[in-house]
Amino acid sequence: MTADRRLSTVDRGLSTADCCIAGCGPAGAVLGYLLARAGIRVVVLEKHGDFLRDFRGDTIHPSVLEILDELGLADSFLSLPHSKVSNVGGRTTAGQSVAFTFERLPTRFPYIAFVPQWDFLEFITREAARFPSFTLIRNTEVVDLLQRDGAVTGVRCRDADGDYELAALLTVGADGRAARTREAAQLPLVETSPPMDVLWFRLPRLPEEPRAINGRLGAGRVLVMLDRGDYWQIAFVIAKGTADTIRTEGLEHFRQEVTRVAPELSDRVAGITDWEQVKLLTVRADRLVTWHKPGFLAIGDAAHAMSPIGGLGINVAIQDAVAAANVLWRPLSARRVTEADLAEVQRRRERPVRLLQAFQSAVQSRFLAPALASADTPSIPLFVRVLSHVPILRDLPPRLIAFGIGRPHVETPQRAAT
Ligand SMILES: Cc1cc2nc3c(=O)[nH]c(=O)nc-3n(C[C@H](O)[C@H](O)[C@H](O)COP(=O)(O)OP(=O)(O)OC[C@H]3O[C@@H](n4cnc5c(N)ncnc54)[C@H](O)[C@@H]3O)c2cc1C
Repeated sequence: MTADRRLSTVDRGLSTADCCIAGCGPAGAVLGYLLARAGIRVVVLEKHGDFLRDFRGDTIHPSVLEILDELGLADSFLSLPHSKVSNVGGRTTAGQSVAFTFERLPTRFPYIAFVPQWDFLEFITREAARFPSFTLIRNTEVVDLLQRDGAVTGVRCRDADGDYELAALLTVGADGRAARTREAAQLPLVETSPPMDVLWFRLPRLPEEPRAINGRLGAGRVLVMLDRGDYWQIAFVIAKGTADTIRTEGLEHFRQEVTRVAPELSDRVAGITDWEQVKLLTVRADRLVTWHKPGFLAIGDAAHAMSPIGGLGINVAIQDAVAAANVLWRPLSARRVTEADLAEVQRRRERPVRLLQAFQSAVQSRFLAPALASADTPSIPLFVRVLSHVPILRDLPPRLIAFGIGRPHVETPQRAAT
């Protein structure tokens, strides 16, 4: 690419942004929406041309539905095709079982809404585009941060016409768990080692099968079935790093392993005919020690990749976005964002994230790792059985999954006309 073919930000119809957001996943899209609604000039840069990813998690929990409700968007969001699940159950191949429900939770939305992530992102960005100060630029990858005297002053990005620079008062890294921005910001990272990976695939769901999230536990095997209407989205949990061994053992062996832990799938497991249908999620969990430096803040998976346990990732990312907007809309309006403002976002969100990661880590080490290593059908741990049976305790796990910890509410105003 020669320099004279490069277009400037002006040629591209852009001027300096108040806030530039790298990545239009759940965190970037919701932050972009909230800031534009508060009248802040925000540019969101997304490296892909659309939101159509392979399965990335599509669980919208009550806390997010309440946030959408606070924004007056819940009813139109729920008019999108979705399925609702209120019940979560677990059963071992030895017949032991537990059940939890969201139905008793004090909310207008006592269920998890399953909406494909691309529909959620299309919805939020369409709503955001009604505010004049919102710009989403697709097919544009952030390749570096612009930095001067230790402060981030914008991004260098790349599209089909070449590289260009976009200056911004504040740059937010919402570019996911392999974030280029956090690497460029050189912020220190703490990684943990979840003991498992996940193989994802789909099988048809029969109309008469109960609407629920079902866990299945067998000798050395854990499987979770998510109700997606006419199909089950299935997570087959494996010991970390064993995906290649499982592939080498062949598809027939894999199908047998699935039916061993979930015999009810034996009538349709033949539908898995190619490893292309089985996607590997390499489970990672990490968090930045410091989420910010002058002119820069990381949120969502870019600040803390979550383990898939509890399906918390999207919801925590969106809660980060709400907290960031609550803290930053005033400084951005005044065009003076200090590091203390950015530290305040981390202060509000770090404790909930650390507690949820500790919860996920405890489930992994005390329950999943022993179950995956077991040659016999493991029992459901006593504390889980106690939690599911004691009336004053039984709503605690659904409450944690539904609302997270220290959930933020929308404090940003609508200052922009649509
Ligand atoms: C297979 C799988 C299943 C999952 N299941 C669930 C689930 O059931 N429930 C749940 O809550 N969570 C689930 N998750 C996790 C969840 O998807 C994430 O936690 C959540 O999407 C994080 O949101 P985010 O906005 O921080 O990052 P992301 O969703 O990762 O979004 C980052 C965005 O940035 C873009 N991007 C990346 N780099 C750049 C760049 N350099 N320049 C410009 N754009 C860039 C990406 O294209 C992407 O659109 C799952 C994840 C995976 C991989």
